[in-house]
Amino acid sequence: MLENISKINIVRIGDCMTYSSLKEIGEKILASFQGMIEDFKVCHHEAPAVERFDALFLTMILHEEFGGHVLGITDSDLTTHDEDEFYNTILGGKNAQNHVAVVSTKRLSPSEIISEADYDLIFDRTVKVSLHEVGHNFGLTDHASFQQASDGSLCPMSRGEFNKFGYWGYVRAIIDGRGMNFCDECIHFLKQFQPIRHPLAGMMKDKFYLH
Ligand SMILES: [Zn+2]
Ligand SMILES: [Zn+2]
Repeated sequence: MLENISKINIVRIGDCMTYSSLKEIGEKILASFQGMIEDFKVCHHEAPAVERFDALFLTMILHEEFGGHVLGITDSDLTTHDEDEFYNTILGGKNAQNHVAVVSTKRLSPSEIISEADYDLIFDRTVKVSLHEVGHNFGLTDHASFQQASDGSLCPMSRGEFNKFGYWGYVRAIIDGRGMNFCDECIHFLKQFQPIRHPLAGMMKDKFYLH
């Protein structure tokens, strides 16, 4: 049985962000998933200030602690067991066995945060990566192409090719290019969404979505 995912717990891991920023992320998630997510709650997970977390392990801990639909946000790196070094640190990921997604702000940040614009940029990027991972919780899959929403921005599920851009090129071209609205294809999919009969539910086990 799959849990109800119309409510989401937004969990701050350590001291990565202010309460008001987390609330704002929650509001934006509600706006982008209108009719799908009706409510959010800001929570806190006590964690040491470490360089990195094992992403999959962190999702399991958050699942144990909070259960249900969870988005965890940290400013530590999130690592995977991928042998390819290029892919073993991720911006965000989702555990395919539950509804827990995690996002790291660490590599979304400019090297120095001087102005309010720098902070706004990190905040926007965090929202965009969060929308992508929460989209996976609803069974949405990546667009390899540059798929646009009706407002002309890239759909939050756009992934593009990591290799083609290099790291910062990727963040600027794909993440910054994403908007807050999903494309028609994703909206259509979300409208059909049936948590109990989700066709991918049985096949997503043991796979951790990276990005
Ligand atoms: Zn993805
Ligand atoms: Zn889309």
